[in-house]
Amino acid sequence: MKIHVLGYWGTYPAPGEATTGFLVETDGEKVLLDCGSGVLAQLFKLCGVESLSAVVVTHHHYDHTADLGVLSYALLKARVNQTRTTPLPMYMLEGPAGLMRDLRTEPLADVRRIDATDTVHIGELTLTFAPTVHPVKCLAVRFEHQGKVFVFSADSSVCQPLRTLAHGADLFLCEASMYDGEETVAKRAGHMTAGQAGQLAREAGARRLALTHYPHEGDLERLVAQATEAFGQPVQRLHTLDVLTV
Ligand SMILES: [Zn+2]
Ligand SMILES: [Zn+2]
Repeated sequence: MKIHVLGYWGTYPAPGEATTGFLVETDGEKVLLDCGSGVLAQLFKLCGVESLSAVVVTHHHYDHTADLGVLSYALLKARVNQTRTTPLPMYMLEGPAGLMRDLRTEPLADVRRIDATDTVHIGELTLTFAPTVHPVKCLAVRFEHQGKVFVFSADSSVCQPLRTLAHGADLFLCEASMYDGEETVAKRAGHMTAGQAGQLAREAGARRLALTHYPHEGDLERLVAQATEAFGQPVQRLHTLDVLTV
């Protein structure tokens, strides 16, 4: 698997960048994982909507869904131009009525409602899920492909279902929305500090850890250092269009 980094900011994008979005690519598939603000502008540097196999949305917060509406317009254009004639499968929890209506208008998207107990197959990819602890219903996702495992925390405070889902992951992409010392605020907001992300990854036996969902405040090198100390080995900081190979 290759994971292309489209966006990693929490809450809102930094100039020229994007909030949460990743493209999970195998030989046969391209799966868009979350579709936050600015994600399509980065995606289109790599491919068009014609190439997408599916979209997976972890939860309905705008920093993970803001570009879904314009994605539906891109699909409409692709249909008019006959560059994409099949509906795009979109796996997600039930969302706001207006968005769900727009996505289902015309058969542009094939919206498939998922829950934590589901198993989804996209080509040779197998996806399983875990419920996270967050102010709205949210799913962490485990991708398995040819014996390799990539796990994305989505948004969450520390919880056992996420620790279980991340067990033995070759790559664990975990949110770190706050710095050490902000544990009380993080728990209240349904997020993790860098140290909590590192500790959770170590307890899960993850082989590699990369951080995402960055705060706009403070020094991100400190965020990485705090996670590295808790994880016990080097932790990766993301940059736009990085490619993580699993
Ligand atoms: Zn969220
Ligand atoms: Zn978020």
